[in-house]
Amino acid sequence: MKVGFMGLGIMGQAMSVNVARKGYPLTVYNRTPREVPDLARLGAAMAGTARGCAEASDVIILMLTGPEACDAVLFGPQGAGEAALRGKTVINMSTVSPAYTTGLAARLASLGCSFLDAPVSGSKKPAQDGSLVILAGGETDVVERCEPLLLTMGWKVVHCGPAGAGTMMKLAANQLLGIMMEGLAEAVAFGQRGGLDPETILDVILSGPMSCLFFQLKRDILVRGDATVQFPLKHMVKDLTFAREKADDAGESAPGLRAARDAFARALEAGHGDEDFAAVRKVL
Ligand code: NAP
Repeated sequence: MKVGFMGLGIMGQAMSVNVARKGYPLTVYNRTPREVPDLARLGAAMAGTARGCAEASDVIILMLTGPEACDAVLFGPQGAGEAALRGKTVINMSTVSPAYTTGLAARLASLGCSFLDAPVSGSKKPAQDGSLVILAGGETDVVERCEPLLLTMGWKVVHCGPAGAGTMMKLAANQLLGIMMEGLAEAVAFGQRGGLDPETILDVILSGPMSCLFFQLKRDILVRGDATVQFPLKHMVKDLTFAREKADDAGESAPGLRAARDAFARALEAGHGDEDFAAVRKVL
């Protein structure tokens, strides 16, 4: 199985290295040419165009910002193009909207191309460790065929249902993640306004039943202003906007989702989009 991997951002770089480590013949592509010594050392080829990457591969993985980026690499002027996609398998691991996913699945099916939506739960560290949880949507036989490849990047593949179900699962999980982050940041802001030290606030939260790995990961960012970016804030605004669109379509009030999205959107407007999404603290 020759693998093409498009998108060497925070997640894609780490994930593609894990694919190469497990011995899959790999060709990578990134819009902005980028040297990745680990990939070169593992023998991965670097394609100059998305078309070159698709032509060299049986299975094409996308780990890109969102729908526009996916359309650009698949169907844009420098994109793979229908001829290079025909009869192959596309796995979109980017977080996009459910509507985009079902449209893409139909377009690729018309080319005889197999498709999975397979967004991931977990950020930079699990991507590096190969311990993501992969949320797959698509036909059972395609999921089973691709599972060994997916397990190079994650410890678990959950088959959520037909194409689009992986995306829905991802948005449900990120809705909770956004609300948890906003809630933690708001508790810190509230305590600080009352004269408490953020270190004390985090110590108390992390010592009791509310402690969880996610809150632990955000501790140094909130207490010490650590500038590590685990998940860029602009991506959280994107994901919560997709979730809000879906809630609107379903006529759901989703009050927590809407309040959290508005707080992250204010932080984006204030110029914190490229910081970790814990930067929502700065506008509360
Ligand atoms: P990132 O670091 O911002 O990387 C984005 C990638 O998309 C880069 O390779 C970028 O290429 C490419 N791209 C953007 N616009 C493009 C276009 N028009 N044409 C071609 N390529 C384009 O993002 P990331 O953090 O790796 O996230 C990737 C996806 O995973 C997103 O959907 C995100 O929501 C999701 N996700 C992220 C995390 C996380 O913790 N970071 C966790 C789970 C899921 P350039 O280098 O040329 O800009």
